[in-house]
Amino acid sequence: MTLEKTLMIPKSRTLLSLVAGLSLLVAIGCSGQSSDSDTSSTEGESGQGGEINLYSSRHYDTDDDLYENFTEQTGIEVNLIEGKANELIERIKSEGENSPADILMTVDVGNLWRAQEEGILQSASSDILEENIPANLREDDGHWFGLTKRARLIVYNKDKVKAEELSTYEDLADPKWKGRICIRSSSNIYNQSLVASKIAELGEEKTEEWAKGVVANFAREPEGNDTAQIEAVASGECDVAVVNSYYVARLQRSDDAKKKEIVANVGAFFPNQESGGAHVNISGAGVTANAPNKENAIAFIEYLTTPEAQEIFADGNNEYPAVAGVAENEIVKALGNFKESELDVESYGEKNADAVKVMDRAGWK
Ligand code: FE
Repeated sequence: MTLEKTLMIPKSRTLLSLVAGLSLLVAIGCSGQSSDSDTSSTEGESGQGGEINLYSSRHYDTDDDLYENFTEQTGIEVNLIEGKANELIERIKSEGENSPADILMTVDVGNLWRAQEEGILQSASSDILEENIPANLREDDGHWFGLTKRARLIVYNKDKVKAEELSTYEDLADPKWKGRICIRSSSNIYNQSLVASKIAELGEEKTEEWAKGVVANFAREPEGNDTAQIEAVASGECDVAVVNSYYVARLQRSDDAKKKEIVANVGAFFPNQESGGAHVNISGAGVTANAPNKENAIAFIEYLTTPEAQEIFADGNNEYPAVAGVAENEIVKALGNFKESELDVESYGEKNADAVKVMDRAGWK
């Protein structure tokens, strides 16, 4: 998505926020010059109106309802700027001190970690967030907070594989899977985070050995996204694949009979249930380094951890709520209960660079 295109779609719902959106455009148009953006004029009135500028790589219809509820409850308008994670990170960087961004919301710790490394997030302290979000799903100093969880699971063709044959991610390096595994490329952040988690658990040497084994078992060179891996399993091009849980739930939940049929013959298996638990990642958000509306931004992230918001937010992308005690949707629930890894997700960021090198050395395209 081009800069111009993302500029076109701040979803303003009222005249007021339309004006705010326009002033945002002006502020961005003047980037590089000192600018007292209008967006900062209502700072510090958390709970009493004002606004936030939310830069998000999420785009689900249900999110709009969520933002409207927040505005109703607090009077704080939400100006939404959408784009891909790397584009939003680059944009906030280039906007620098004049950035109108208050919050960066994106998926996968790898992206949040990168944003933190780039210096575009600030530490935000909130008793509510510390209380609501498990410690392993947020950054220690409050640079970002996990809002939903996704598991990276193994899917299999039910005609070719029995669930009993599956066990762990580690087992995918066994020669019995030769020519049978589909997985997306090493440039994908989900796989980088999975490999990083293995480095955190097993060390670099063992992880490299494992990655080499997995690559040796590929059915084809990595191509396509997680949905494409499920399709390849369904068609029999490969027998097993590694994908995020919500891709399975999304196909199962689809109104499209064809998509439902694709997933009908595909089983979902949570690995490492007898050991460390299935790999879990997050979607999440952090307050940006130069947020003009910091208090409102924290209030917004706090709102997203309320049971009501958690349910809608997780449902929007068929994920697991990060907050304990909130129910997932029926389709997600039907994937089954599972033991999840309790690794600190921050370690995926810390080990990301090593993971990329390991995958490269292993020949993971
Ligand atoms: Fe995804």
